[in-house]
Amino acid sequence: MSTNRTFTMIKPDAVANGHIGAIINDITAAGFKIVALKYTKLTEETAGKFYEVHSARPFYKDLVSFMSSGPIVAAILEKDNAIEDFRNLIGATNPADAAEGTIRNKYAKSIDANAVHGSDSDENAAIEGDFFFTAAERF
Ligand code: ATP
Ligand code: MG
Repeated sequence: MSTNRTFTMIKPDAVANGHIGAIINDITAAGFKIVALKYTKLTEETAGKFYEVHSARPFYKDLVSFMSSGPIVAAILEKDNAIEDFRNLIGATNPADAAEGTIRNKYAKSIDANAVHGSDSDENAAIEGDFFFTAAERF
């Protein structure tokens, strides 16, 4: 059953390029409610754990290094059909393939520095949200 929740991060590239406000505006304008929100920074260790599912992929080391290179914004979002609608809002993994008007189309520069993360399933949204937020930090 769908939980109607997803988890996102605004990645270090989008934070460094000054896009936090614009991206949060796009997210709320698309009808997502913010359940939890945090400005923080991953270490190599915590980024490695977060992306453990990708540990066998060739880009894993670069991904962990990039995701721990600067602050990020983490959030839990709520909307009907949240997982699919949010992935449509952010666009394809490679911004070169991301549809016009999507967040990655507007704010991302490359496949590794692609501005935002979006959960790929209800199960992973719950795991990823629990990685960053306690129950008392959700509203
Ligand atoms: P995310 O999980 O960040 O929302 P995604 O689900 O679109 O992205 P995944 O396949 O889960 O894509 O890959 C996780 C992240 O790893 C991507 O967002 C991207 O930053 C990086 N990545 C994926 N494929 C490549 C690649 N071929 N080269 C470099 N980095 C990659
Ligand atoms: Mg993914």
